[in-house]
Amino acid sequence: MTKTQTLFLCTCDNSQKIDAKAIGKALDLDTSPKIYEQLCRSQIEALNSTAAAGQQATICCTQEIPVLLEAWAEASGDDTAPHFVNIRENAGWSEDGPKSSAKMAALIGEAQVNVSGSTNVTLHSDGRTLILGNDDTAIEAAKRLAQHLDVTVLLTRADEILPPAIGNVPVLLGKITTASGYLGKFAVNVDGLRTLDPSSRGSAQFGSVAKGPTCLDADILIDLRGTPALFPAPEKRDGYLYAEPGNPAAVERALFDALNLLGEFEKPHYVLHTATQCAHSRNSIVACTRCLDACPTSAIQPAGDHVTIDPYICAGCGECSAVCPTGANSYQYPSVKGVMARARALLSTFQKGGGSAPVLLITNPTDGVETIAMMARYGRGLPARVLPFTLNTITSVGLDTLLSLIAYGASRIVLLANPAQASELSVLHQQIEYANAILHALGYGKDRITVLEEADPSMVENILWSLPKDPATPANYFTCAGEKRETLSQALIHLHAAAPTPQDRVSLPVGAPFGEVIVDGHACTLCLACTSACPTGALKSNPERPELRFREAACVQCGLCLKTCPEKAITLSPSIDFTGKARNLTTLKSEQPFECIRCGKPFGTKASIERMAEKLKNHSMFSGPGGMDRLRMCEDCRVFAMADARPDPFTSGTRPITRTTDDYLREREAATSKNDPEKLN
Ligand code: SF4
Ligand code: SF4
Repeated sequence: MTKTQTLFLCTCDNSQKIDAKAIGKALDLDTSPKIYEQLCRSQIEALNSTAAAGQQATICCTQEIPVLLEAWAEASGDDTAPHFVNIRENAGWSEDGPKSSAKMAALIGEAQVNVSGSTNVTLHSDGRTLILGNDDTAIEAAKRLAQHLDVTVLLTRADEILPPAIGNVPVLLGKITTASGYLGKFAVNVDGLRTLDPSSRGSAQFGSVAKGPTCLDADILIDLRGTPALFPAPEKRDGYLYAEPGNPAAVERALFDALNLLGEFEKPHYVLHTATQCAHSRNSIVACTRCLDACPTSAIQPAGDHVTIDPYICAGCGECSAVCPTGANSYQYPSVKGVMARARALLSTFQKGGGSAPVLLITNPTDGVETIAMMARYGRGLPARVLPFTLNTITSVGLDTLLSLIAYGASRIVLLANPAQASELSVLHQQIEYANAILHALGYGKDRITVLEEADPSMVENILWSLPKDPATPANYFTCAGEKRETLSQALIHLHAAAPTPQDRVSLPVGAPFGEVIVDGHACTLCLACTSACPTGALKSNPERPELRFREAACVQCGLCLKTCPEKAITLSPSIDFTGKARNLTTLKSEQPFECIRCGKPFGTKASIERMAEKLKNHSMFSGPGGMDRLRMCEDCRVFAMADARPDPFTSGTRPITRTTDDYLREREAATSKNDPEKLN
């Protein structure tokens, strides 16, 4: 904490105990901070002098943020905001409250870390609404929205539909072939589009079919067809409102939500993609599809050698960033660097305050925070050593973050998930499996990292209070640069150095992003095709000689080399090396170069030339004299040898001298002078 910051501690009307001296000591403050009892009410003027002086402040209350913020803005006269931190539900309101000074200090230390946010993209909606339906529900919905939005109805069936009495809403009939887009940019392609005949007397009748496919544009799509949604993870697609027509409450909610989708909307640019680091494909051979497989919204699409992420469709779950082995996809809301800076402040302050064996409880900002609040209000609250740590989404947590948090001294990590999220947790479970395999092998015990899929606060509370007290991991507060492989490497070096049972190598489950490339020396011809395919530079040639070299630390086990190798000589072996050798270039295969039998220039390898000679020994092209020798010559000498082998044009006798018109004229003149009648003709 910078010493110019003022800390406002408040007991919230004496509902929690606060030890200002212990907190001040853990935060390295020169003097103990003052404690208030009613900062948001009778003591609110205490904020004035700090705000008016333009000083930074941390206010330990989130309950009354609006009131405190207003008072702060009035006194400061500008829009700088203090830090707010919840030490009440997270620490004070607990059976362990009186023992929670280290945790309170840790939460304050974390809140004071400034983390830069992501950039935004803007979605613009003019309210052009397309309602999709199969029955009167769509017509009724259109009638209600028509006063507020520019509405069109597209029916995909026309059974017994009652047409609207006044034609203020266009009603169309057609078959949806494809749909794409997002709020402000939907495009629905329709076959056989027909418009409502206004003279329909009974049920709706439709006119003649428009020629060819027709594309309907819309800002908002309300899908009331009752058939499968048009998009994967429909609830994550901005501007797409899906409701079963037989569920009036869901239809009402969709109509209500539509009314709020008019105007400009900022949305975080959740994930940055660095194409040069992507291991998706090389030379039209596809290897890594981890993020494509993980993305629930189909925001990620292949684009040649790499992938692209549409920030307008991306819903920010962060699974693509957690699963990416190279770091090509990096989460920005906030970045891993920002997350690690907060975690470092949290865990180091906790340790400085005398806390031990901290359990990091990672939660989402919505249901996770509510569960903690319920435990604090109606139950035992959080144990003193359980430190809540809120992220935009727990599904963005990858192996690099998990292992770094353990290296920072977390004795255990619990990720709190709502059971409704179960289908979104496969990437997280996989990352935890890799992390636990490494920790277990190094002697840190089994299952130090777990997902707790539970929404019932009393169940969560029981589990947290009965967690075993694991031995603390000696902490190393290294600074995380934000680069995924480098962060992982720093964490692994520390975890290995402090390991109860250090290992030289730990095997990992298939698919893990570390490991060896094993080359079958008999099958490999050193064609080196794999080196040009490898996207990370883990496989390299040697410009001096025929040699295949490998730097294990750079290998992400993408499999491009394996798929490229024409001899099927490569296998992958996921594991982690802790000896440091993984950072060195090792030789996987090396051979003597073969020297041209004509000029002595090195070309190819002995094995590959002999193998080729063996394969081609009965081929008609090489059966003549010198044919097999040509196979053992370099490119240039082979041309000379071919030329030597052709019949010599100079061995076919004396060529007639070329005669010109002058020669004929000269002869003719001579003949005239001799009166030779034969030559005259
Ligand atoms: S390397 Fe990363 S960005 Fe590229 S395809 Fe694999 S997971 Fe996606
Ligand atoms: S060595 Fe093979 S598996 Fe490893 S990164 Fe390069 S291409 Fe991928």
